[in-house]
Amino acid sequence: MPLFGALEAGGTKMVCAVGNEKGEILERVSIPTRDPAGTMPELLDFFRDKGLAAVGIGCFGPVDLTPQSPTYGYITSTPKLSWRNYPIVRRFREELGVPVGFDTDVNAAALGEAVWGCTRDVENSIYITVGTGVGVGVILGGRPYHGMLHPEGGHIFVERRADDPMPRGICPYHGNCLEGLASGPAIEQRWGRKGIELSDIPAVWELEAYYIGQAICTYICTLSPERVIVGGGVMHQEQMLPLIRQEVRRQMHGYIQTKQMEKLDEYIVPVSLNDNQGVMGAVQLAIDAYLAEGGTL
Ligand code: ADP
Ligand code: ZN
Repeated sequence: MPLFGALEAGGTKMVCAVGNEKGEILERVSIPTRDPAGTMPELLDFFRDKGLAAVGIGCFGPVDLTPQSPTYGYITSTPKLSWRNYPIVRRFREELGVPVGFDTDVNAAALGEAVWGCTRDVENSIYITVGTGVGVGVILGGRPYHGMLHPEGGHIFVERRADDPMPRGICPYHGNCLEGLASGPAIEQRWGRKGIELSDIPAVWELEAYYIGQAICTYICTLSPERVIVGGGVMHQEQMLPLIRQEVRRQMHGYIQTKQMEKLDEYIVPVSLNDNQGVMGAVQLAIDAYLAEGGTL
């Protein structure tokens, strides 16, 4: 059975794995993200000499996913300056000599769940991560959705609640976008302590759910997903999912009436793959790249 390399490239850590066509993860290591000169050789060393048929990368971004573009496979305008305009796909391809699949970190995670996890029974789904940043992966018709670029659903504008003790969201680009108001660092900025230390203060999580619920109403109205997955560090707060479902019901105000909206505990769900959804999605990206270049399973 061919082996596939998988890289979940994040701003703080790089998760490298080897998997197979069943989505089984056979090996997995995590490497801190430094600059490309320090980190790339470590990544390549992990994947080299393993007899891989292809590699898949789910990458922090923004990234260029347009195959015809001269900068296809580049990390483009990222705030991580040392990675800006970095040709990550070409480096892997040249160094390892195998097909390389590529997508955003959140599209990869959404794909992992769609192939092997809690959205495998539907064709259209979204995956939201609420962590250091907020990101949204979109699966439409079973495939990760791209367009002009790729969805940047963490930066949609949300209405700041009038009683929010933080006068303005922290996104350097938009202020009051979802990431600016609801990311882990936004919680810390607003309340003066890390989220993990605020577990027993209900107002923290009610406001957080207000923003995430508002964003989910927007995704429901624009993309009409058949299921919504919510993950990321902030979702370790177990009170969050019920609060989010409550906010979605309240803010939607009965406008959309479907069987899914009647059962929000089956519609808005947690991640299902034990934090492997990103690398498992990257395995699927590798499989797709392998098949596209004539490989057979
Ligand atoms: P990243 O987004 O960097 O990949 P995570 O998804 O783990 O990583 O998100 C990290 C963010 O989540 C931090 O801002 C952190 O404060 C917050 N976080 C992590 N664990 C918890 C928790 N148990 N409760 C609330 N917030 C948390
Ligand atoms: Zn923003």
